[in-house]
Amino acid sequence: MQSQTNLTINDQRLWDTLMETAKIGATPKGGIKRLTVTDLDRQVRDWFKAQCEALGCTVTVDDMGNMYALRPGKRNDLPPIACGSHLDTQPTGGKFDGVLGVLSGLEVLRTLHDTGYETEAPFMVVNWTNEEGSRFAPAMLASGVYCGTLDKDMAYNLTDKDGIRFGDALAEIGYKGDAPCGAQKFSHFFELHIEQGPILEAEDKTIGVVTHGQGQRWYDCHVTGRESHAGTTPMPLRKDALVAAARVITAINDIAEASAPLAVGTVGVLDIREPSRNVIPGEVTFTAEFRHPEDAVLDVMDKALAEAGAKIARMENVDVEIKPIWHYPAVNFDPDCVAAVRQATEDMGYSYREIVSGAGHDACYVNRVTPTSMVFVPCKDGISHNEIEDAKMEHCAAGANVLLRAMLAVDQRVS
Ligand SMILES: [Zn+2]
Repeated sequence: MQSQTNLTINDQRLWDTLMETAKIGATPKGGIKRLTVTDLDRQVRDWFKAQCEALGCTVTVDDMGNMYALRPGKRNDLPPIACGSHLDTQPTGGKFDGVLGVLSGLEVLRTLHDTGYETEAPFMVVNWTNEEGSRFAPAMLASGVYCGTLDKDMAYNLTDKDGIRFGDALAEIGYKGDAPCGAQKFSHFFELHIEQGPILEAEDKTIGVVTHGQGQRWYDCHVTGRESHAGTTPMPLRKDALVAAARVITAINDIAEASAPLAVGTVGVLDIREPSRNVIPGEVTFTAEFRHPEDAVLDVMDKALAEAGAKIARMENVDVEIKPIWHYPAVNFDPDCVAAVRQATEDMGYSYREIVSGAGHDACYVNRVTPTSMVFVPCKDGISHNEIEDAKMEHCAAGANVLLRAMLAVDQRVS
């Protein structure tokens, strides 16, 4: 039996497994279209179950279709140490988003199996249902139900574009289990994922030690001025809603830059009511969003935006309404889990940096009820949710090694 310190995964086997499952729902451009709870999803689930069972693991399914592959430890009274991600993809998905996290978990199980390594606590690999949210919105549906944030009946009643209910589709593919979602507890949870952004590649780092997930604030903005003739209305007498909106948009950019580089601010939609070349715009609506990994900073940004709106309204003699419509709290991953990932990375001698997740992940929800953290590996040009999404074999393998070592380090502590 190998000691924990020199155990490593099988790089080629992990890569071959990624390429093998990529055939299930393969697209001509080299990606995967494997929408949640479709027959293709069933196929990859059946495959995953069979592979885990071949290692002597038990696979259970809860009533949201989440799959839990359990490898017993020496002390099965302990809650499992878990990792996982998702096997569903976007309609134009790539071969790595989500899939890497589940198949790396499988590779961890295979490595332990090969070497006959006995962990103290049981180890578990999870496949979360409907992470992508493209067939049934919202995203991260089943992990959201798992942590108690989303309602199960709401989830069952979601319909796809053909009017098919999520609950019915889940039963149809045979993956609506009996166990109540949320009942399966873990002591720790780790998720390996491609970065889906350009930072690691640009800085030539192998591993991203994910410390936070970005919080988000969304706003609907409405500026009301007065439509009037573009030729006859002197400048001082105008109530130009678009000029005021432009100032608010500039303020949004300035507010984000004031807390850069972690803060970002975006206006993605802008609409002038009844636009006309020779009419001063009287009514403009636009969206705004801020993201930052700390809620306290988002509070400051939120206040700055309200103040800027009020000031611009006075200056431009218009009404500015900035309505918060949705927010997602910042995610602080568990310091012990983050430390385990950092230590595992250093032990393996990989280059790394700490990083914030700009996207949502199942781990963000699981973190609400279980000590959790994430491992990122680079993807080519930072491109994801695209069939050309690409990652290097050595980076995938490095991520899986960090996953294995972090889980084993946590396991050593429970003994
Ligand atoms: Zn994903």
